Amino acid sequence: MANDWNRRDVLKTGLAAGVGSFGVPAKAPTVITRQAKRPIVISSGNGLAAADKAMTMVAAGADTLDAVIAGVNIVELDPNDMSVGYGGLPNEDGVVQLDASVMHGPTRRAGAVAAIEGVKTPSNVAQLVAYRTDHVLLVGEGATRFAQAHGYGPEDLLTDHSRAAWLRWKENLSDQDDWFPPERDATGSAADMAPIERHHGTINCNAVDAAGDISGVTTTSGMSYKIPGRAGDSPIIGAGLYVDNEVGACGSTGRGEANMVECASFLVVEFMRAGAQPKDAAIEALARIADKTVSPRLLTDGGRPNFGLNFYCLNKAGEYAGASMYGESDGRTARFAVNDGGESRLEDCVALYDVRAK
Ligand code: ASP
Repeated sequence: MANDWNRRDVLKTGLAAGVGSFGVPAKAPTVITRQAKRPIVISSGNGLAAADKAMTMVAAGADTLDAVIAGVNIVELDPNDMSVGYGGLPNEDGVVQLDASVMHGPTRRAGAVAAIEGVKTPSNVAQLVAYRTDHVLLVGEGATRFAQAHGYGPEDLLTDHSRAAWLRWKENLSDQDDWFPPERDATGSAADMAPIERHHGTINCNAVDAAGDISGVTTTSGMSYKIPGRAGDSPIIGAGLYVDNEVGACGSTGRGEANMVECASFLVVEFMRAGAQPKDAAIEALARIADKTVSPRLLTDGGRPNFGLNFYCLNKAGEYAGASMYGESDGRTARFAVNDGGESRLEDCVALYDVRAK
């Protein structure tokens, strides 16, 4: 399979030096000793405000995890972002179930919640799991009860907008059922069943401070109209998020199922540990995922993955990258948010393939 990205460049820029043919370091793992000269915050494309907030806090001396969580809280609480927290699109029953994970580099604490209900800011609950329990992941009803014990929820997370979007999905499922979309006449015959888009979306935010301490958070409402109880990659340490304070951090957005089976955020950090630059590490992980995608259901006619997947990674030295399976999808360029002091900006992601074919 021909990749648009020149993978020989990847191999030249570090992996060849430290990684065997199975992606396993051929020599003892390196620790990145160069330290960021100034704090860096990166986030997914919906994270401009999050990166601003996190940078303001990190620059004022806040802990990196507190800072990135305060950053993503802005998006979790935003009713207009339909992929995260309050206002996120619900599952097939019309219930909003959220996933989130956090990792604090200096203490190596990790916490996560999956399929939690009635809480607008699951990232805060994930932090409580990390700090107030001996566990890493709480799911479903247990996670919801744990959140309530700490004063989070229950709250209704559906907005008028997300409820309407869910109803529209439900009404358009089939022209043989008893739900009438506005386009259908009273006999139930489908006049014009508009195609419904399955929504993906998530926010990831990672920070390294001037002391070289690193943290990350990933939070999402997951795939829209999912089967109740479905958890994506976001709450899975090593998939939706991974942090190693000696090396760097990586988080992900996009098709979680493709990421989960390759533990790709962990993989990106391991490639960086072996000496790869962030952009090369992330592209190599995307190439791995593309190579391992074999189900025809998930491939384009040209044999490429028919889904989007993105990684946002930085290392202890403050080098960073956003990387995407496709540089352009549906006419949109893949971008990510960066803040290196001052105001956040969007930068283009590096991409494994240039343009996603329809
Ligand atoms: N990665 C998320 C999930 O699979 C969704 C997304 O980022 O689009 O739940």
